[in-house]
Amino acid sequence: MKLTVLDHALLKCDLSVLRDKHTPKELFRASLGRIAEIMAVEICAKLPLETFLLDTPLETTTGYRLKEKFLIVPVLRAGLGMQDGFLKFLPHATVSHVGISRDQTTHEPHFYYSNIPANIAELHGFVLDPMLATGGSATMAVKLLKEKGAKQLSLVSVVAAPEGVKRFSDAHPDVHIYAAVLDRELNANKYILPGLGDAGDRLFGT
Ligand code: URA
Repeated sequence: MKLTVLDHALLKCDLSVLRDKHTPKELFRASLGRIAEIMAVEICAKLPLETFLLDTPLETTTGYRLKEKFLIVPVLRAGLGMQDGFLKFLPHATVSHVGISRDQTTHEPHFYYSNIPANIAELHGFVLDPMLATGGSATMAVKLLKEKGAKQLSLVSVVAAPEGVKRFSDAHPDVHIYAAVLDRELNANKYILPGLGDAGDRLFGT
């Protein structure tokens, strides 16, 4: 299992804002956006670089740029809240959206939309899905991307549940999971405990 729970004081503070049931949607959006920014910076810290020569006003020196090209895949709806945080640091990334909803009775994922381009094999992909609960949506999104040729993928979730981590890792042992916290468990309705409720509803005020 490849799971990294990012340990950062600012993540803990923003996560507490998300968890609080009194947090209004505008603050929820801002905090989720900031969490995505912090996670993007932390996850990208060790990305491979290539060097080039550049001229400062005084002399020639070595410059650095990211070696890879990137694909950002927010899983609709809640993944949209993390999109801009990743684009801020990877502004040239291609963005594909995958729409997967949850059947309210069976809790199984239901696919309804994707716009994944061809030629993604060379791209380093980040799948953004803030809640890794049962793992159904993230597992399905990554399966779709692999079917379209994706070779290098990471899953970025904010809150992960042990059940979701297990289901996802069993299906995609090659895909690294990043999370801001690993919560305790799922309740009978497959919500994460202690969690933060329905991330999509809280983000959009529905
Ligand atoms: N999706 C959410 O938004 N919240 C949960 O707790 C589980 C799935």
